[in-house]
Amino acid sequence: MAEEKTYDIIIVGGGPGGLCAGLYAARARRKAVCLEKYLPGGQIAITGEVEDYLGFELIQGAELGQKFRDHAVKFGLEIEMEEVEEVYCDGEDRVARCASGNVYRAKAVILATGGSPVKLGVPGEQEFSGRGVSYCAICDGAFFKDQVIAVVGGGDAAVEEGTFLTKFASKVIIIHRRDELRAQKIIQARAFDNPKVEFLWDTVVEEIHGNDKQVTHLTIKNVKTGERSELPVGAIFPYIGFHPNANYVREKLEVDAEGYLITNYKMETNVPGIYAVGDVRQQFVRQVTNAVGDGTVAAVAAEKYIEELEDKHAQRVG
Ligand code: NAP
Repeated sequence: MAEEKTYDIIIVGGGPGGLCAGLYAARARRKAVCLEKYLPGGQIAITGEVEDYLGFELIQGAELGQKFRDHAVKFGLEIEMEEVEEVYCDGEDRVARCASGNVYRAKAVILATGGSPVKLGVPGEQEFSGRGVSYCAICDGAFFKDQVIAVVGGGDAAVEEGTFLTKFASKVIIIHRRDELRAQKIIQARAFDNPKVEFLWDTVVEEIHGNDKQVTHLTIKNVKTGERSELPVGAIFPYIGFHPNANYVREKLEVDAEGYLITNYKMETNVPGIYAVGDVRQQFVRQVTNAVGDGTVAAVAAEKYIEELEDKHAQRVG
């Protein structure tokens, strides 16, 4: 049966930013809950290896996500498996309504919902999703052992996950629309040094084809020459960026041109008591390191905000 539960702070999303906010909220002795619809850890839970989080030279993303979760829970953060459908204000309360019917009330809410992969938007993408089209190398790479895998994009995710996929693939072909990558140089160097990674420059995917079992080939086009050709592959992993997951808030939050939430230096949105951290907010870089920094700031700011509300009420009573 649906329940209504009251907390001091609600955190929506259990990635590094959300869990770090939860750790700080719990350490401030606030009753805090993190609502996560899938796995605590967020995107790193589905990332192969992480080697740029200070103190961990090399760790599996899933293991780091589990460590973040365990650490926050040890200090008192509650984690509930819930899909939040709507966040809204009800007087001073900040409310999260979930698909389960449960309703969570608090004085502050921290939005830490990251983003979802951008789709290529080409014919065959949806049809072959789960049958050779995947957005998660660590989840699905092993299904394509000894096959040729295409990866699309030229950013950190495409090049890093493309290199990771060589663990399984006979060959990984990274298809990029320009002739220069935007990925960090160290990530690029590793891919260039890997004999199983090939690049197709100035090329876009126009269509994904397959049979009743899986993807068989792609129609690709060279954007400089206009020439079209067929590329036989067993799978395709598009890594062409992501959209922020921010459209579940009823209040009108300020966003930038791409839909990322705009916050001030306290991680507060334009609505008091609603904070945003990590990849869902407008950022210069999107790394685990700055997501946890955001989480720290938002939790401390939310704690001060609640204290001020409590002081205001105490004065009224006094
Ligand atoms: P990204 O940095 O935005 O790169 C997206 C790539 O996809 C770009 O190369 C872009 O091409 C290409 N692209 C965009 N739209 C396309 C389309 N319609 N068709 C074909 N190609 C298209 O995205 P990301 O790699 O997912 O990374 C997102 C954020 O997470 C970044 O801030 C990144 O630094 C961070 N991240 C970091 C790590 C790490 O540090 N290890 C790992 C993963 C992600 P153009 O270059 O031509 O624009």
